[in-house]
Amino acid sequence: MLGAWRELVETARRTNDAGLVVGTSGNVSVRVRDTVLVTPSGVPYERLHDDDLCAVDLEGRRVAGSLSPTSELPMHLAVYRHTAARAVVHTHAVHATAVSTLVGELPAVHYMTAELGGPVRVAPYATYGSDELAGHMLAALEGRNACLLQNHGTVAFGDGLGQAYDRTAQLEWMCQVWLAASSLPGRTPSLIPDDELARVKEKLKGYGQRRAPE
Ligand code: 13P
Ligand code: ZN
Repeated sequence: MLGAWRELVETARRTNDAGLVVGTSGNVSVRVRDTVLVTPSGVPYERLHDDDLCAVDLEGRRVAGSLSPTSELPMHLAVYRHTAARAVVHTHAVHATAVSTLVGELPAVHYMTAELGGPVRVAPYATYGSDELAGHMLAALEGRNACLLQNHGTVAFGDGLGQAYDRTAQLEWMCQVWLAASSLPGRTPSLIPDDELARVKEKLKGYGQRRAPE
């Protein structure tokens, strides 16, 4: 459990170092069997040490630690209850948050849209930490592994902290691309059609280095 906690703290610090969050904004969680390790609410990530480990069960009952868990626990637990996610990252990344105020869905300006399951939806605004926000997020995640939260930020999940973080960074980057491309007066960015996104989704399954036979 301590190894997973250290990896979680490391990932939370990465979101800070990469400028995806400012101060104590955002939160990170990782699932270990039926236990969920989460960042505590309002504690700067550089102050988190081994004895700050904060763990809850899938109903949100505290199973370890004395610090209060993130205020966004309803969002994190909703993802674990409804998907096969092993890790969740929530940020207030600048470009993603800007896009969340402009559209209901991030247009498919890049093929990496397919990596996130398809065009990324924007969950309608609700107060941070509320069950209502968790509900909106879950609907926006249908068939996707990431979404935007209107006037708030990003949520992405993955099979581990690395994948959840990478998807968050890809989403922020794609939002930046769309904002840049759509900022020229009188010009509209070209988009990738659905059938091509489906092709890319298949192709990405074989992306990268195949493992050599043992
Ligand atoms: P916590 O510090 O409670 O995790 O809240 C930060 C946040 O991003 C709320 O949406
Ligand atoms: Zn937030």
